[in-house]
Amino acid sequence: MTDLRAVSLWWDSLGASPAPRDPLDGDLDVDVAIVGAGYTGLWTAHYLAKAAPGTRIAIIEANVAGFGASGRNGGWCSALFPASLDRIARTSSRRAAIAMQHAMHDTVDEVGRVATAGGLDIDWAKGGTVGLARTAVQLDRAREEVAHWRSWGFGAADYRLLDAEEANERVGATSVLGAAYTPHCAAIHPAKLARGLAGLVEDAGVRIFEGTPATGIEPGVVRTPFGDVRAPHVVRATEAFTATLPGHRRAILPVYSLMLATEPLPAEVWERIGLAARETFNDGRHLIIYGQRTADDRLAFGGRGAPYRYASRIDPATERDGRVHEGLWQTLTELFPAVAPFRVTHRWGGPLGISRDWYASCGLDRRTGLAWAGGYVGDGVGTANLAGRTLADLITGTDSELTELPWVNHRSRHWEPEPLRWLGANGGLTVMTSADAAEARSGRPARRAALFERFLGH
Ligand SMILES: Cc1cc2nc3c(=O)[nH]c(=O)nc-3n(C[C@H](O)[C@H](O)[C@H](O)COP(=O)(O)OP(=O)(O)OC[C@H]3O[C@@H](n4cnc5c(N)ncnc54)[C@H](O)[C@@H]3O)c2cc1C
Repeated sequence: MTDLRAVSLWWDSLGASPAPRDPLDGDLDVDVAIVGAGYTGLWTAHYLAKAAPGTRIAIIEANVAGFGASGRNGGWCSALFPASLDRIARTSSRRAAIAMQHAMHDTVDEVGRVATAGGLDIDWAKGGTVGLARTAVQLDRAREEVAHWRSWGFGAADYRLLDAEEANERVGATSVLGAAYTPHCAAIHPAKLARGLAGLVEDAGVRIFEGTPATGIEPGVVRTPFGDVRAPHVVRATEAFTATLPGHRRAILPVYSLMLATEPLPAEVWERIGLAARETFNDGRHLIIYGQRTADDRLAFGGRGAPYRYASRIDPATERDGRVHEGLWQTLTELFPAVAPFRVTHRWGGPLGISRDWYASCGLDRRTGLAWAGGYVGDGVGTANLAGRTLADLITGTDSELTELPWVNHRSRHWEPEPLRWLGANGGLTVMTSADAAEARSGRPARRAALFERFLGH
């Protein structure tokens, strides 16, 4: 049995590991079977139970609710969606792309609303996101980003440029030249949300079976070692772990993101760092970093950089990659030198899921009753809520504004077979890392990163 307190800072701060719920005990007939008790599975159950009380819903979870990325992430409940508006518009229309972004904005508040209504304390603070520009190249990128939002009709209330003084007031990092700012993000405690949601759906009559791995998902049935769960609707909510399911091995690429957290920092350090509204923050480098000030005054900070494992292997050893954690610490102390004397108390990581065209989707195949949602890359905290609401509408046959959104029933093609997948994923990582180094050296935008992003279709 995994020591759940070792999974992440978030799990550790919940206190004693919760006793797991009972596994499935024999065959079961329900109306909706959901595989995976992360945000996607739990939100889907929540909205289904609300829309159609009395619906028999079972969630089949291999480990415990919140064990996956949902209990490990950076806690940015953001309006970010992994595919750009240009890309969404190319496969739908300008109007649909804009509607998608408005739905993402609403989603941030919806998460906060449900948490409040359900009495869940998730350490919610809607301080927005500050995307720091710490080099001239990054400042140009921030300007372009804000101009891009303007071209799509979003004004300064949604996305705006901060000058160096304003940016520094919010985030006292080194070398700040300015920032792109959006209010559409809340910092949350990820595991409190996942565990709280699990309790909420159980109260609504949903049954959660933990320690129950699905060994197959087929139309009308979820197979497990302890029995079959038969249901006219089956929802795949397994994100990065999807690659372990027969028939879905190339649907989603599992990629690890790693994090660390400091001990609680004293008030005089926070006076220098700022983040008074618990703004989430990153900067304009290619190899993504992200941070938040936690409710108990730690810095929780993460980034990519861990290698993709051959054949989409989910390998817990990847969660504790000393080289990546050391790199994260170096970056954090470079941003905030005042943090250097303090201890790192937690190091962890987890797998997130990427679809081949980096376009998250949710959908229902009405012919087979199979539904799915995922491919959120690093943006699943908010997006999974939108997925849950949308899947509930699809399953109950309710036509709504949500079911009209362009990501609904979007199909991404499969990832390449190995070794191409391994070469592409790790090659991309190298390109992004070396692009950051090249930009730092030359002070000019790295062409190879732009080319790679174009190749990905961003
Ligand atoms: C380190 C890290 C930082 C991140 N930071 C952010 C962030 O700040 N903001 C943001 O928006 N997103 C972030 N993400 C991404 C976000 O956490 C995910 O997109 C989101 O949690 C996905 O939720 P999910 O329910 O789809 O998947 P998961 O939470 O991964 O849940 C899948 C569940 O399925 C279960 N499962 C797997 N296989 C089986 C099986 N065969 N049978 C039964 N159950 C199974 C797993 O045990 C797991 O509980 C981050 C991810 C990581 C790893």
